[in-house]
Parts: sequence; C-alpha cells; structure tokens
Amino acid sequence: MTSTPSPLTRLRPRAAGLWSVFAVPYGLRVGLRGEHFLGHDDRSGEPHPTAYYVWLALSDEEVVLVDTGIGPARAAGMAGLHYYGSPVRLLASVGLAPADVGWVVLTHLHYDHTGTVAEMPAATSVVQRAEWEYWSGPTARRITRERWLCSPTDLENLAAADADGRVRIVSGDVELMPGLSVHLVGGHTAGMQVVRLRTAAGHVVLASDASHFYENRAEDRPAPILHCMPAVYAAFDRIVELADGEDLIVPGHDPAVLQRYPAAAPELAGRMVRIA
Ligand SMILES: [Zn+2]
Repeated sequence: MTSTPSPLTRLRPRAAGLWSVFAVPYGLRVGLRGEHFLGHDDRSGEPHPTAYYVWLALSDEEVVLVDTGIGPARAAGMAGLHYYGSPVRLLASVGLAPADVGWVVLTHLHYDHTGTVAEMPAATSVVQRAEWEYWSGPTARRITRERWLCSPTDLENLAAADADGRVRIVSGDVELMPGLSVHLVGGHTAGMQVVRLRTAAGHVVLASDASHFYENRAEDRPAPILHCMPAVYAAFDRIVELADGEDLIVPGHDPAVLQRYPAAAPELAGRMVRIA
C-alpha cells in the first residue's frame, strides 16, 4: 500500500544541494505611489497596491522560512489591509507545520517581516548584527526614527528565542548551508540582508525590501522608507550581481510576483507560487 506524499515532500527539489523557492502571499493593501517611490511627482497620489509575502525555501532536508509576516493582532489594527490570514496558518494549509521550520531568515526587523517568529518553536532565526543592534543595542532606546516600523513585542520574542539559543547573529555575507547564503546590503534598514539560493534554474535572490517593487530597480527609484541612500543604490546593484538573471530576482512587496510565476501546484493556485 502506498501513502500519498505530503505536499511538502512533493515540493522539495529532486537533487541534493539545490533549493525550491516559493512565495506565499498573506495580504494586500492599496496604498499610494507616493508611499512607495521617493520624490513627489504627478503620479504620487495614484493608488498603488502592495502585496505582503513570506518566502519558503526547501532543500532535500531543510525547511527555511524567509521572513514571517504580520501576526493577526497587528494585522487587525492595520487600516486597509486585506489579510488572508496568519502566514503560519497559510503555511499549515499547504502542509507545513510550524515545528517543521528549522530556520527563519529575517531579512530585516520591520514589523511586517517579524510577526510570527514566536510561533516557530524549533526554528533558529538569522539576523544581521547591524540590524539587531540598531533596534535592540545600547542606543536603540534613543532612536525614534522609524521606530513605528519595529514591533516591541516581536523584539521581545526574538530576545526570548536568543536566550533559548535560537538566534544566530551574522555579520556580512554568510553561507548558512550549502546553496543558501545571506548578504548584508543595508540601505532600507541598517542591517538589511538579501537571501541567495541555488536552484535548478540558477541563483535566485529574495530581495525583500531591498527592492519592494520591480519598479524600484527598473526606474532606479528607492522607496521613501530608508536608512541610507547610497546603500539603497548599492543594494540594487548587488542584487543583480548575486542573481543569475532578472527573472530570478524577487521583490518584497510586488503583487506582480503572483502573475510572473506559476502556482506551486494546481491546488495551490492563488496561495503559493514557485519562483524556481
Ligand atoms: Zn521593510
């Protein structure tokens, strides 16, 4: 008698040393172009949808979640957010239990990337030292700039995970496991990192908020929320260096990702796309 393999098993890559990479949308909010592109112009008042994602990377052995989205409590207080559900619940619906996640790579510590860390009990979270110290180091209490973008509750949860030995602080460019590396780019935040994955289609780069939308890089136009302008532009260039092609660069908040890539499986249409 054969049992049906779990969806997760079917999504894993066939060869060792390669990764399968997926984007899982968990919300949509229609903002304004002026919120997403620096510098006022005639189009700044136009509506501009922003999608919210977590990214799932599977090797033949590992389960890595890149960013953890917004938790239900914060989502409930966000005006205009169409919330599909907690990323944890959405992942469970595709066959991934929270305890299956071995690693969480946090590209940065903005609230829409850190909200469900505490719900992954077995995961070790990976954060850049510059990011960690900006939000929780000796001077963090005195920094008010963009403080609203960081959740104190999420920071407390990360500190608890750290006390439990489940936070790995890294500095710079680090290969975490074969074919998966993180790269410090800064720019958007003090310690913004992007994630590079070796896949059957070449190296994918999960740019996250180093490029929120395709248009940020295409028009060489940063988002207004940023820590350091020269580093934002350097990050645009670094992403291109790290990826094996434009179609393997994944922006952090662009709804078009869901049109550019196919559903991970027919039954997952609209819920999960396969990047590579
Ligand atoms: Zn951000």
